[in-house]
Amino acid sequence: MSEKRLRDAIDTLKESGVRITPQRHAVLEFLLSSMTHPTADEIYKGLEGKFPNMSVATVYNNLRVLKEIGLVRELTYGDSSSRFDCTTTDHYHIICNSCGKIVDFHYPSLDEVESLAEQVAGFNISHHRLELYGTCEECSKVATEKH
Ligand SMILES: [Zn+2]
Ligand SMILES: [Zn+2]
Repeated sequence: MSEKRLRDAIDTLKESGVRITPQRHAVLEFLLSSMTHPTADEIYKGLEGKFPNMSVATVYNNLRVLKEIGLVRELTYGDSSSRFDCTTTDHYHIICNSCGKIVDFHYPSLDEVESLAEQVAGFNISHHRLELYGTCEECSKVATEKH
């Protein structure tokens, strides 16, 4: 994890007047070092050893605060629980069909799709999401080893 990203995130927290509790710091650090877009439950399990008294509700509460000040993005997928992403610059996601891991995919933003949609449908487009699905490297390996 880049130390600079953590420092920048802490600066943003300070500027927004949000109190930096040890748990909040840990949630942020966990998210910054995790590249798989964890769920609140995964964050909770990852920090359980460090904060035995912390509840899942506390994790959710911290995620909500971080989301409100724009440090974290929530990715909802209808069915299962939300996943959290602390890369808030525009990017797309590749999702593994087997393990559900979400990996960042940087590709120039498809702005022309938004403007075309505005023209065609008369909507004022706020944003868009693009997800690519497939089998990740690890899951592909496991599948080959089984055969
Ligand atoms: Zn996978
Ligand atoms: Zn992402």
